[in-house]
Amino acid sequence: MFNLPHSGMLESGGTVIWSLDGESHVLTAHLQLDTALDSNGQEEIKAEISNALEDFNFLHTTIEFEYPDEYCRDANEPEI
Ligand SMILES: [Zn+2]
Repeated sequence: MFNLPHSGMLESGGTVIWSLDGESHVLTAHLQLDTALDSNGQEEIKAEISNALEDFNFLHTTIEFEYPDEYCRDANEPEI
C-alpha cells in the first residue's frame, strides 16, 4: 500500500489495516530490512514511513523492523 525508496528496505510483510469503528483506521506492518541499521538509519526509514502514511490519516500505526534471518512471530508458518 506504500512504497519506500530506502535502500535498506527489502520488503514489507504482514501489513494489516483495520478499522476501529468505520472511521478510525489502524495500521501495523513488519518491515524486513536487508542490513542492520544504526539509530540514524532507523530514524531515516521511520521518517520516510511517516511521509508515506501522511495522506492516509491513520489513528494509530505500529511499524516493526525485522531482519532476514529473524523469526517473525506473526508468520503463518515457521520460517526455515
Ligand atoms: Zn513479522
